[in-house]
Amino acid sequence: MTAISRRNMLAMGAAGAAAAVIPAAHAYDPCKPPQKWDVTTDVLVIGSGGAGLAAAVSAAEGGAKAIVMEKLRFIGGNTLLCSGYYNCVDPGRQKKQGIEDSVDLHVKQTLNAGDNRANPELVKVLCGKGLETLEWLEGMGMQFDPKVIQVYGALYRRSHLATEAKGAGYIKVLKKKADELGVEFLMGTKMKSLVREGAQSGRVLGVEAVNADGKTIFVRAKKGVVLAAGGFAANPQLRSLYDPRLLTLCTTNNVACSTGEVMLAANAAGAMLIGCDYIQCNPGPAPGHQNGVRQSLHLDVSKYIYVDQRGHRFVAEDARRDVLRDAVLALPEKYGFVIVDADGFAANPAAAQKDAKRGLESGDSFTADTLEELAKKLKMDPAELKKTVDEFNECVEKKSDPKFGRKPDMLTSKIQKGPFWAAFSSMAVHHTMGGVRIDTSARVIDLAGNVIPGLYAAGEITGGIHGSNRVGGNAVLDIHVFGRIAGTNAAKEA
Ligand SMILES: Cc1cc2nc3c(=O)[nH]c(=O)nc-3n(C[C@H](O)[C@H](O)[C@H](O)COP(=O)(O)OP(=O)(O)OC[C@H]3O[C@@H](n4cnc5c(N)ncnc54)[C@H](O)[C@@H]3O)c2cc1C
Repeated sequence: MTAISRRNMLAMGAAGAAAAVIPAAHAYDPCKPPQKWDVTTDVLVIGSGGAGLAAAVSAAEGGAKAIVMEKLRFIGGNTLLCSGYYNCVDPGRQKKQGIEDSVDLHVKQTLNAGDNRANPELVKVLCGKGLETLEWLEGMGMQFDPKVIQVYGALYRRSHLATEAKGAGYIKVLKKKADELGVEFLMGTKMKSLVREGAQSGRVLGVEAVNADGKTIFVRAKKGVVLAAGGFAANPQLRSLYDPRLLTLCTTNNVACSTGEVMLAANAAGAMLIGCDYIQCNPGPAPGHQNGVRQSLHLDVSKYIYVDQRGHRFVAEDARRDVLRDAVLALPEKYGFVIVDADGFAANPAAAQKDAKRGLESGDSFTADTLEELAKKLKMDPAELKKTVDEFNECVEKKSDPKFGRKPDMLTSKIQKGPFWAAFSSMAVHHTMGGVRIDTSARVIDLAGNVIPGLYAAGEITGGIHGSNRVGGNAVLDIHVFGRIAGTNAAKEA
């Protein structure tokens, strides 16, 4: 048995030649139907993040018996620790802020931001179902701030911030609903392989997994399996197979979650993988501070500037995330500093403010009453930082940033009121845009372009929704929109 099968090589492209560094693909080969199933349900969902819970709730709402299988001892995945921003066109909120928007514009911006590598049909569904899915969550008790902002890399003011810190609100309301609907949870149970009628043919019948006692179990899903196991940002070997620059970077993800084995199992069962070399980075800890407190003072784009170790701006802060990543990685130190003033600090979510205060002790953030003092703490020339901030404030006054091209609607807040804050910002692997290919019904597509019967996927495990670069705030939208579609459609199967 070779370390990686030919079908995986095909799906992964030429980069697959370096595959010796990833777990042997045959470890995920689909297994034959067992003589006896240990557990039987209608819909089996793999993963308990936002996509998985949205799928399980929707399947149960459709009258199906649903089980969620989660490898960790707690639910929520990366969704639990996300910053909580959800993009969608929302005239009720946006009009009050004088923001003109439309689903067509959201679609256009999403496609452009991903260099037109996303599937336009998936993007139309993503953006078109944004508000209705937000209202579905609100109907379960989810709360959002009344105002929308433009979150880091979002490119437009349509990012809704969850009222409860980070992603906890999404997970809480979905779990409560899942409990009410009788959804069951198999915790500490790791999916290993898919079970199909034939090795790479026929219907998906269920999965093989290892439970919390280390015992192999087989779970039968009469209507369908929904793969919602997240991305592979926390698998350095797998991500560097696609983008070698990313081997040694740290990640913003929960390292136990985003390991990619379910995506590989789907591939081994015949699913097509697409766009796996599109991998996003986001501000992370400074070099040598991997175990420090991750800083998020960059969230509201209108409030911050990025400076380098010399105290100079180096990029339009409202640019695409891949542009920001490349600009930071091109700096000699490979990190920059996010600078906000007292108002910018106060505009951040409470969780980001708390992390900044904790960061003062771990050395990840800094504060001072004046810019000069702040510069000294950052080992930067005070005169240079002062000059940079003065120049930026002039850009705000003139609503024009001739040097870097930051847009006028992101030139609204001067940096002028102490205390001032700075946070280290290197680049950490954040999101994997590629994965299992799906259609607009969230059905998984095989290498020949056909639907794999009984197999659905949603959330970060999928590819084709974001293209080469994900718009900030579009992932939390994606997981709930497609999680809901996957669960609803799986429940409808005979
Ligand atoms: C720090 C941070 C901040 C972010 N902020 C935002 C934001 O504000 N807005 C936005 O749009 N996006 C944001 N993102 C991205 C977004 O949060 C993720 O893309 C999204 O939460 C992924 O959801 P998911 O349900 O697909 O996967 P996850 O939430 O990661 O859930 C996957 C689950 O599957 C489980 N699993 C994995 N393998 C197996 C297996 N073999 N068997 C059983 N279970 C398995 C995992 O343990 C995990 O619980 C952020 C990401 C991070 C890391």
